[in-house]
Amino acid sequence: MMKSAILQSIHEKKFHRELGRFSGKQPGPLAICIGGIHGNEPAGALALETVLKKLRETAPPFRGELIALAGNVRALNAGVRYQHRDLNRMWSPKQVSEIEDLLPAQTATAEDAEQRELLDIIEMALEHHAGEAIFLDLHTTSSEGSPFAIISDTLTNRRLALELGVPIILGLEENLDGTILNYINELGHAAIGFEAGQHRSPTSLLNHETAVWITLAAAGCIKPNYISEFFDLRQQLKRSVGDVPRVMELRHRHGVHETDEFVMQPGFSNFTRVTKGQLLASDRKGSVTSPEDGLLFMPLYQSQGEDGFFLVREVNLFWLKVSAQLRKWNVDRLLPHLPGVHRLADNLDALLINPQIAHWFVVEICHLLGFRKHSQQDDLLIVSRRRQSAHP
Ligand SMILES: [Zn+2]
Repeated sequence: MMKSAILQSIHEKKFHRELGRFSGKQPGPLAICIGGIHGNEPAGALALETVLKKLRETAPPFRGELIALAGNVRALNAGVRYQHRDLNRMWSPKQVSEIEDLLPAQTATAEDAEQRELLDIIEMALEHHAGEAIFLDLHTTSSEGSPFAIISDTLTNRRLALELGVPIILGLEENLDGTILNYINELGHAAIGFEAGQHRSPTSLLNHETAVWITLAAAGCIKPNYISEFFDLRQQLKRSVGDVPRVMELRHRHGVHETDEFVMQPGFSNFTRVTKGQLLASDRKGSVTSPEDGLLFMPLYQSQGEDGFFLVREVNLFWLKVSAQLRKWNVDRLLPHLPGVHRLADNLDALLINPQIAHWFVVEICHLLGFRKHSQQDDLLIVSRRRQSAHP
């Protein structure tokens, strides 16, 4: 039944931008959930429809508002990842301001139009909402494997993502430009990316539904006891995780171009352990091997996409606790006293690091204290503070 729902969605179902809204009588957080920003990943949009249907049927006490959106409507309805461009790589500040300046009729490509429509709804919702806003972006992957969450490493994001009980990946945003998660984070709101499993798997649909319920409960919109089967759903999500580290950080991205003829070796899934030098894929130039020991992450088994694979490494939970405490104590004020580290005159949230002078651990310390790699200028590295949620 669930499987047929996913298959039907590809062949027959027509999605609309607004999957639905649900609000309670009491004020509370704004939760914006997006499914299918990649059009070949309809499971998130379908799960959001299920959540809305259940909310309408049971009318539980609800604080705040849920807005559920379909991401790339045109691509969802065509059953493709995107038509011209990946809609989840278009959210850099520059691109967003260019799109904002256009009238809807002036947009050049299908994805420009999609972005313009999404921006209108998101901006309007944030404008009319005074309190906390939480953003959940639902995805599936081409390969089989455990569900996981992707966050920018702020303390609020950590708290919400840990509630999901799935592995958390840190540092992806430093390697992917223009994701909608980055855009929302930079606005100062909490933003969680959730990957439910394989595109067509019925379990992915269920995992998405569970992630939406857990997020609504963690945000304080609804009490878990009003959600039917909440505890069973959460247990089943935990069970689908398997033997995967709790928190991992990104170490390496293998980017691919259409002309690369990139082909992943068969049999890999998310979080397969690999060793340095192991054959992972092939392309026009020959073999592609692993640059270090680690866990393989998001191996590409579809024709469209710019990320061949990633490598991640386990983060010790001890260091997460240390970093949370250090951030509470504002230890980052001491960073400019380290050799090779300077504040940028025009941006108090950014630091200039000279890798010739600063030791490798300076960048690690910056990570611990909530900074991310921002850009490279000549031989200098610029790191900037991740925006913390305005409502921790
Ligand atoms: Zn996706």
